[in-house]
Amino acid sequence: MDIQMVDLHRQYLRLKPEIDQAMQEAIGSCSFINGAQVRSFASHLSEYLGIPFVIPCGNGTDALQIALMALDLKPGDEVIVPAFSYVAAAEVVALLGLIPVWVDVEEETFNLNVWQIEAAISPKTRAIIAVHLFGQCCDMENIMRIAEQNHLYVIEDNAQSLGAEVIYSDRSRKKAGTIGHIGTTSFFPSKPLACYGDGGAVITSDSWLSERIHMIANHGQQQKYHHKIIGCNSRLDTLQAAILETKLPHLEEFTQARQSVAKRYDDTLANHPLWIIPQRMKYSTHIFHQYTLRIPEGESRRDALQQFLKEHGIPSMVYYPLPLHRQEAFYGWARNGSVLIHAERLAQTVLSLPIHTEMTDEEIDYIIGTLNEFK
Ligand SMILES: *Cc1c(COP(=O)(O)O)cnc(C)c1O
Repeated sequence: MDIQMVDLHRQYLRLKPEIDQAMQEAIGSCSFINGAQVRSFASHLSEYLGIPFVIPCGNGTDALQIALMALDLKPGDEVIVPAFSYVAAAEVVALLGLIPVWVDVEEETFNLNVWQIEAAISPKTRAIIAVHLFGQCCDMENIMRIAEQNHLYVIEDNAQSLGAEVIYSDRSRKKAGTIGHIGTTSFFPSKPLACYGDGGAVITSDSWLSERIHMIANHGQQQKYHHKIIGCNSRLDTLQAAILETKLPHLEEFTQARQSVAKRYDDTLANHPLWIIPQRMKYSTHIFHQYTLRIPEGESRRDALQQFLKEHGIPSMVYYPLPLHRQEAFYGWARNGSVLIHAERLAQTVLSLPIHTEMTDEEIDYIIGTLNEFK
């Protein structure tokens, strides 16, 4: 058995005829930058998400940077970010001379603790970056309410949750990334909708913001060689757009494939004394970008389990081994908005299992069997 965290090769082989044809067409057009596929992919993604503006860009980190630049914040303004997360959101906040304010996450969901957001707001707070970690959305209904009451912008970092849905208390639903003022995503090869290199997008339903975002991603110009605002150069290339356009119609099927792996894990791994399975919240669907166990006994038991799996040919990953407020890069550049106990604890207890669109029942059973052998 050859078990991978994410099996890009098997997925490629399954989709090979469509992908190869799309690549050939893109290469044949020689329109490598801003080709027709970039526009048509953006319009198909906007249809899928049900949001008017999708602006493709170079990667998910650029998308976050462009989103923040579009909001026209001032150096020293504060932006609330989760302390347990991927670094990108906090990094671009600091890069733009803004102050990341760490807020703790909930242990059960890995996502921002809504009540601690409220406590972290100061007169300098301008925005919240809600990262939908591992495939499940933050509690967006409450986050939007707090943002409105305090006149804050909300950016949703949707790199890990494209296709997930927020479920409102009246049962209505909205796609993740379409609820805040701006949403961002990444098409990095391991993400839910992935290309074969770097790619990203910024999405919004606000036409004023969408114009600014377009300009910022393109050197601050609308008309060539007329630069209205300071921008950057961030593009999705035509080849990547062609791949994404081919894969987008498969996104729902990719999600269902991962959800059925998660269901099998849930059914057999629940109620075990050594680990806690991921919790599903009623305010969001879960697309299981990661299937992340918690090992409450802590780091040494978690690491022993990881080693045991490795010896049996099963990869696993610690996302993330060091909370952001403990990262050297941010010393002196950030403020603690709350006590960060859960961020600290998760770094010592999380372990993500293999989950992807191509997993066989045999592989899942082998992983479950091996986990159950661990003493
Ligand atoms: C991957 C990821 C990013 C960054 O995306 P890149 O395309 O690698 O720049 C940002 N935020 C989160 C939560 C991610 O998982």
